[in-house]
Amino acid sequence: MEYEAVIGLEVHAQVHTRSKMFCACPVVPDTGNLPPNTYVCPVCLALPGALPVVNRQAVALGIRAALALHCAVQPLSVFARKSYFYPDLPKGYQITQYAHPLARNGYLEVDVSQRFCRIGITRIHLEEDTGKLYHGNDGTRVDFNRAGVPLLEIVSEPDMRSPDEARAYAMALRDVLVYLGLNTGDMEKGMIRFEANVSIRPQGSGTLGTRTEIKNLNSFRALSRAVDAEIARQIAILNSGGQVTLKTLGWDAAGEQLFVQRNKEQAHDYRYFPDPDIPPLAVTPEWVASIAASLPELPRARKARWVAHYGLREEDAALLVPDRALAGYFEAAVKHGLGCGVAPQDVANWMTGEVFRLLKARTSGITGARVSPERLAALLRLLYVEDAINVASAKKILEVMFETGESPERVVERLGLSQISDPALLEAVATRVIRDSPTQVAQYLDGKEPLIGWFVGQIMRETRGKAEPGQAQEIARVFLERERSNRF
Ligand code: ADP
Ligand code: MG
Ligand code: ZN
Repeated sequence: MEYEAVIGLEVHAQVHTRSKMFCACPVVPDTGNLPPNTYVCPVCLALPGALPVVNRQAVALGIRAALALHCAVQPLSVFARKSYFYPDLPKGYQITQYAHPLARNGYLEVDVSQRFCRIGITRIHLEEDTGKLYHGNDGTRVDFNRAGVPLLEIVSEPDMRSPDEARAYAMALRDVLVYLGLNTGDMEKGMIRFEANVSIRPQGSGTLGTRTEIKNLNSFRALSRAVDAEIARQIAILNSGGQVTLKTLGWDAAGEQLFVQRNKEQAHDYRYFPDPDIPPLAVTPEWVASIAASLPELPRARKARWVAHYGLREEDAALLVPDRALAGYFEAAVKHGLGCGVAPQDVANWMTGEVFRLLKARTSGITGARVSPERLAALLRLLYVEDAINVASAKKILEVMFETGESPERVVERLGLSQISDPALLEAVATRVIRDSPTQVAQYLDGKEPLIGWFVGQIMRETRGKAEPGQAQEIARVFLERERSNRF
């Protein structure tokens, strides 16, 4: 029997606001590095009598994500209490949105190895994060710095059919959230976490099989490996005459193994009900419209534009698009380059080659780089348009530019990489070229004067482009004429 996998993802992304979801405590990108329990207050510690207040900026960013994902933002949504007991959850319930989420019915377009698919998005809602437990030899400690940090949960339709599709969707979604400025995309710090729902069914079947859910996947690799393992596990069960049962699974990333967290009979009853402390959230059409007007161009559209307008190779565009600062830098360098004859693809090659290499050796990233896009373009003009330097020199010059922040012209000058202007040197080259090209010399002397350009080209080649073209032309002419008087 041939089986088809069906996958739906729930994605939790931290929303990068200044303060927490329901209180004024600060949100920092790296709560793990703070002294524990320093960014806390009566609200996020759930002290009696404390009242939550909805963070307007978190809602605005949620709407931003909803619009980028083509969802319908709901005029009214409701925060609910999801009750369960766990030591990292001070209130004994999590505030989330349940029956009435912030947004519904969207989609994300994804490219999976040259193929395009549209993954439906069921709903997007806002909720709060929990604290974090630290298990040590002397017991378990809890840190509430993260408790109450806003999260966006994005639930997909069961529209993915393979681990690759799930991974591509997750990566595309990460890119969008980073572009929108609501998440740093830093997977190592847990800024985005995935839960995968997996089922299988006979190929061609129109009904859904029983699903299992894999919790807490923290990397793209973990996501695709875990889904892959779960598909194989379910196929083995069906092939041996068994039945898949509802389960919540975990993934041991180090051992690359699934383990059972809960079976159906241990399922939680969350007892959802509207939080009486928080009025329904009303979002006006005017607010939605003003947020829609501020949406940036999204990664997939930007990539397509580069391919169409700049003639860029798809793979290079894919490398340059995801980091918005890098993409902006590239675009600026292309604009300066186009003004002086540098091809966008050459800019892309230098970005993904030398610039990436030089950035890797530094921690400052492209925004802290001492080379402006304009100066990168100027360097490439010297290389490709003016033929004033060769590739090896250009690499050296760029490295120095990164070190010192000098202009390419200045580095060329200082390191003596400029064109050769020493007449003795050029004369030696011209003598050699004329000696080695008897056929062309004869043709020239026979009256084929335009051949002078060919001799100039040879001199330029011999000097690896370092000769000054005007001077090369003059020397070629003088030497060829000398040859004429020698012969007649
Ligand atoms: P729950 O809270 O029970 O996990 P959600 O509605 O939050 O329910 O999430 C359900 C997720 O599971 C969605 O991403 C949905 O696409 C996916 N899903 C539902 N049914 C199946 C199925 N039979 N196979 C695979 N994924 C499924
Ligand atoms: Mg779920
Ligand atoms: Zn607080």
